[in-house]
Amino acid sequence: MQFKEIVGHQSIKNHLINSVKNNRVSHAQLFLGPEGSGSLALALAYAQYINCEDRQEDDSCGHCASCRKYEKLIHPDLHFSYPFFAKGKEETATTYMDEWRKAFLTNPYLGLNYWREQLDSGNKQANINIAEAHDIIKKLSLKSFEAEYKVLIMWLPEYLDTQGNALLKLIEEPPAKTLFLLVAENQDKIINTVISRTQLVKINKLHHDEMNSYLVEERKLDPRRAKEISFIADGNIQEALNLIHQHGENETFSILVQWLRFIVTDNGKELIGLTEDKLSKLGRENQKSFLLYAINMMRQIILMQQGLRNLVFLQEEEFAFVEKFSGLFQFEQLEEAINILEKTHYGIERNGNAKILFLDLSLQLVLLFKYQTFPKNRDSII
Ligand SMILES: [Zn+2]
Repeated sequence: MQFKEIVGHQSIKNHLINSVKNNRVSHAQLFLGPEGSGSLALALAYAQYINCEDRQEDDSCGHCASCRKYEKLIHPDLHFSYPFFAKGKEETATTYMDEWRKAFLTNPYLGLNYWREQLDSGNKQANINIAEAHDIIKKLSLKSFEAEYKVLIMWLPEYLDTQGNALLKLIEEPPAKTLFLLVAENQDKIINTVISRTQLVKINKLHHDEMNSYLVEERKLDPRRAKEISFIADGNIQEALNLIHQHGENETFSILVQWLRFIVTDNGKELIGLTEDKLSKLGRENQKSFLLYAINMMRQIILMQQGLRNLVFLQEEEFAFVEKFSGLFQFEQLEEAINILEKTHYGIERNGNAKILFLDLSLQLVLLFKYQTFPKNRDSII
């Protein structure tokens, strides 16, 4: 992975490149950035740059022997560690290396749920286990095969738990020419003893305009769609990709409209059917996207209601829907709907039972939308 392939973050890229030029590469660094910001890709581009045999002014060369192996994640001195869903105590990250390569090379902005879905792990607990910690110690105690630096990139050290203690000595006094790059999303969840031994590289979420040009130029989205998706995804490329994927035939929109129709007409039987047969079977990542999409639609409805229609970035069909809906409910109701949707999103993210969460959400919304400003229109709205 070269720096130029990664969206945005120019100042971080400069900072990393300069640390190599000035010979100030710290041996243990913590890349801290939110999901979908590209922090894992940055760590890898950095490691590739350090080991490149023909370093350029502002990037690795991309074609030397080292770069070629780095590009495929097959360099013998490049090690990865990441949470996995162990089926047995003896499993380590290496057990899932083929899946990992495929997942990263397909989607360098991957989030944990995307990774979970690649491994088909259902609701199993993600973990970096003690066998993995010992495996890291073993790997890094070996001499490097061909590169100057051995590199270990650990994605999501949040999942190390107390196993991290086994690694402390290694992080503090690493073997010569060994580089630890930890890539985390949530500083509060990493054991302090690990944080205190690393140098922080803080990565911010991407700007809307950076995401927007990525979607238009790389993903060939039409500008209006790109604007809408950047707005919902809020700097998280993993989220944007989920939305693009879902929006293939704009199925999300039709499910949402159907669902809201059952809600506002208080059609219990259909509502339960849709919740059980469709929403609860979408898969966690798609459920989160569905909820974010619903939250965004509610926000657009509020904007429309407040007379800010020039801020509403939607496709024709959605625009018409938002326009209708905005005339039917009061601001407080819409605001509360967002609140309830956000809580459900939180629950799904925390691995809650999707069926129960969606049923509960649906019933709460039925109660919320029971009283409308214009009750007569109830059946004709959507
Ligand atoms: Zn190179």
